[in-house]
Order: sequence, then structure tokens, then C-alpha cells
Amino acid sequence: MNLDRLLQKHAESKPENLALGWEGGTYTYRELNEKVQKLANQFYLNEIKQGERIAIILENSPEFVISYYASMRVGAINVPINPALTSREFEIIINDSAPTIIVTNEAVNNILKKTKLVCNPKYLLPTDQGFSDLLQDGPAERLIVGVDTEDCTILYTSGTTGLPKGAVLTHHNLFHNAKTFAEAFDLNEKDKTLIVPPLSHIAAQSNCLNTTLYCGGFSFMLSRWKSSTKTLSTMEEQRTTFFFGPPTMYTYMLNDPEINRYQLKLRFAYTGASPLPEHIFEKWTEIFGFEIVEGYGLTECSPVVSVNPPHGRKKLGSVGLPIHDVNVKIVNDLLEEVPIGESGELLVQGPNVMKGYYNRTEENNYAFVEGWFRTGDIAKLDKEGYLYIVDRKKDMIIRSGFNVYPREIEEILYQHPAVLEVAVIGYPDEERGEMVKAVLTLKSEHFVNIIEELKAFCKERLATYKVPSKFEIVKELPKTSSGKIVKGKLRELYA
Ligand code: ATP
Repeated sequence: MNLDRLLQKHAESKPENLALGWEGGTYTYRELNEKVQKLANQFYLNEIKQGERIAIILENSPEFVISYYASMRVGAINVPINPALTSREFEIIINDSAPTIIVTNEAVNNILKKTKLVCNPKYLLPTDQGFSDLLQDGPAERLIVGVDTEDCTILYTSGTTGLPKGAVLTHHNLFHNAKTFAEAFDLNEKDKTLIVPPLSHIAAQSNCLNTTLYCGGFSFMLSRWKSSTKTLSTMEEQRTTFFFGPPTMYTYMLNDPEINRYQLKLRFAYTGASPLPEHIFEKWTEIFGFEIVEGYGLTECSPVVSVNPPHGRKKLGSVGLPIHDVNVKIVNDLLEEVPIGESGELLVQGPNVMKGYYNRTEENNYAFVEGWFRTGDIAKLDKEGYLYIVDRKKDMIIRSGFNVYPREIEEILYQHPAVLEVAVIGYPDEERGEMVKAVLTLKSEHFVNIIEELKAFCKERLATYKVPSKFEIVKELPKTSSGKIVKGKLRELYA
């Protein structure tokens, strides 16, 4: 089974159920399926061949969703790309994936005209009326037959640690994630999902759009994150039952002075993509009376590896239990498994693990060891099998020979009432190798002697070698448009 077939099935079994909504309208399953079929036919008439790439560079919109499933239907591989990237990033990704067709908007098209592309793609630009001109006259019956491809999507990693790499995800990978995730949460066709993070990132694509499709529910999209007010009021209006956002979105929503006035119908609030600060978990529970469910995943794993049991015991600070059919193990530098409770690199095996990085033989040779995928994250397991992410291997700071995990220091600083967001990085030091620095944004500007206070706060709670030697207050931390703090950029700016 694949996701596009599932869409066809729903269009037959529940044609008039709402499938998709956005600020300008809605589609039933029948309508969505018809649009997908017509666009797939257009791709076919443009002589797209099986396995060729179709890049989709759009904000969350009906055109994104139609292009995504239409590329599956025609047997092509879709390459969703965030329209908020820079021209340099577009150049890297487009030259690497060499798409035959690029579906995008006017603004991105203008940027692309100025980039040096080695491929020669055709451009498809939806207008303000979407694809209406293009799809109005096209044939509605299925022109394409017998296109059973293995590869479905190439998704480029966020690039928070280096250049983005294209993870090749198969139909089986994505179907597995949608199914197991929907089953873990017990979602059904009555569920209504609100999609705010970009669909070009695996988390919203797989855990919101595909999961909701899997259970035949309704997805309502905002084109992107606009504000906490917009997100909360849309959740209220749409009677949203399932929401996913990275921890930064919860941080902003909980800092909204009017948070208490919303009447939400949420069954689940899910988070992942970066660590959930403990005080956010606690404050959410206090206000809404139920807990945020934290999970862990990565693009290469479609994305979910583990999730705190939505209906069972959630452990604070843990990213939960491995999801159905997925195995994890923790290894040392010699790739030997370590005892329970000890930290090491997390390896994953299962139907969710990507086929490999596109065009990257060297990285693939490193990333796969005897059927296990190396995540590059340092983690540990407890006796009950709950997983804890200690930090990313690449973010670890080595100060005078001691390993310092930024996440531990960030977690402490988040407990200080003045701190809105924080990221800890290492900076080079001749004597000690590396030193620790905290870069922060504050909830308001009216704090006096805040740096001395933060230093004292850390000294009381952390071993001396972990206490940051430098603190820098900034207006904003660099983030990806999916809401993740970009540590690489942060090091460039502040280390
Ligand atoms: P790149 O690989 O290009 O640097 P990226 O790793 O940010 O980008 P993603 O696939 O978006 O690309 O992110 C996956 C990473 O996010 C994981 O490897 C892990 O480090 C982090 N992550 C995801 N969920 C959690 C979580 N709940 N707690 C801590 N870290 C998390």
C-alpha cells in the first residue's frame, strides 16, 4: 500500500468527508483526489518519467498537497523544499536532486533565475487561483498505469549541523510512519489536525498530513507560523483535536498573555524535532490539564523513532519508547552495545529507516553499520526501555578534556524566569580547547544585572566546568523555518 492509493481508496469510500482545509477553502476526499489525478495527468503529458524528480517549493497550501500526491501517482520522486531558504541553499539542493519539474511560486522563481543551476527544469507556477487554469481542461480519467516505484520522496535534512543531505524515503518508509504513528495515538476519521510547521519538513509532512490521511481525517493548514494568537485562535475555531509543533512553538504560545482564554478541543499536543524544555511541559499541563507528548525522530527515519505513550506513562525528559517495529541500541565509539543507563551513539533499525542519502556514497558507508543506521545523537535507555536524548554528537563541547552537553546547561537556564530561549555553544580557547557560551533571548528587556544573575544561577546548579564563561543576550536566535535553532549558524555568529 502507498499513500496515494490510500487517497484513492478514501475518495471511493468516503467521498464527501472533508480532507483538507486552508484559509481560503476546503476539499473533500473526492475533490482532492480529482485534483491530484488531473495534475498527475499533466505531469504525464509533460513526459515525466518514472523515478525523475519533481521539486515542490511552496508554503503550506492546497497546491503543495496536490503536487505531493500527484508526483507519487505518476511514479516520480517528489523533493519538497522550503520556500524560505536562501538562494545558496536552493542551488545546493536543486543541483543535487536535478529535478525535471519545479513547482513553485513567483518569488522563488525570481530567486532561482539568479542561481547557477546545472539542470534545466521546467517550471510550473500556480497562480492566485491555484492550479485552476492548468487543471480545468485537462483529462480527468487516469492516464497513467503501472507505475510502481520504490522511492517516494527525497527530503533534505534541516542543515542545522552542516550542508543539507537528501534522505531518500520510500513509499514503504512513509506509509509505515503514518500507520504506526496514527495507531500509537489511536487517531481516527473524526480527528482534525492543525498543520502549522512547513510541509517541506518531514515532521509536518509525515506526522500531520500523511498520518491524518492514513486515518481519513481532516487536515487544516496555515501557510506558515504567523503568531501564537493566530495558531491558538485557529485551533479553537477549527476544533482541532491533534496538533504538532516543535518546542519553540509551545514556548511562544505559553508566553502569550492571553493563553488562558482559549477553549481548545485538543486530544493530543505532540512535539519533537528538538528537546522540550521541562518547564514548558509543566506549564502546558498546568494550563490545559493534559500533557504534551514528546517524541524523537529525524528526517532519515521518516521521522519517528520513539514516542512517549500517548495513553500511558510519559516520562519527563525522555523521548519515550521505540515506535512499533523499530529497534534501537546504544553503542560506544567501537560500536559495541553499552549497558542500560550509559550514554553512547543511538543506532536505529526498522521499516522507517531511509534507503540512503542521495548521491552520497561516503556518508552512506559511514551511516549504515550492519543494517543499523547511525543517528549521530548521543542517547541512553532506562530499565523500562525509555529513551533519553543527551545531545547531538556534533554539539558536544570538550572543555579541558571534560565532555559538556549543551542541552543540560540549556535545561537549567530555561528554569530562570527571565529566559525565553537559549542555546549553548562551544568557542575555541588555546588553554582549555573549548569554552562554554550561552546565547539567549529574554522575556522582557527590563532585567537588571541579568548576566551576573544567570551566572550565579548556573553556579548553584552545575559543576564549575559546565558553567558558561560567556553569556550574550540577543534579539533573536537563528532558526530554520521549521522552528529549530541552527547551532552551526550560531557558532558562526557568536563563537
Ligand atoms: P542536519 O542533519 O542537516 O544537521 P537536522 O539533524 O536538524 O539537520 P532533522 O532531521 O530535522 O535534521 O532533525 C533531526 C534531529 O533533531 C535529531 O537527530 C535530533 O538531534 C533532533 N531531535 C529530534 N527530536 C528531538 C527531541 N525530542 N529531543 C532532542 N532532540 C531531538
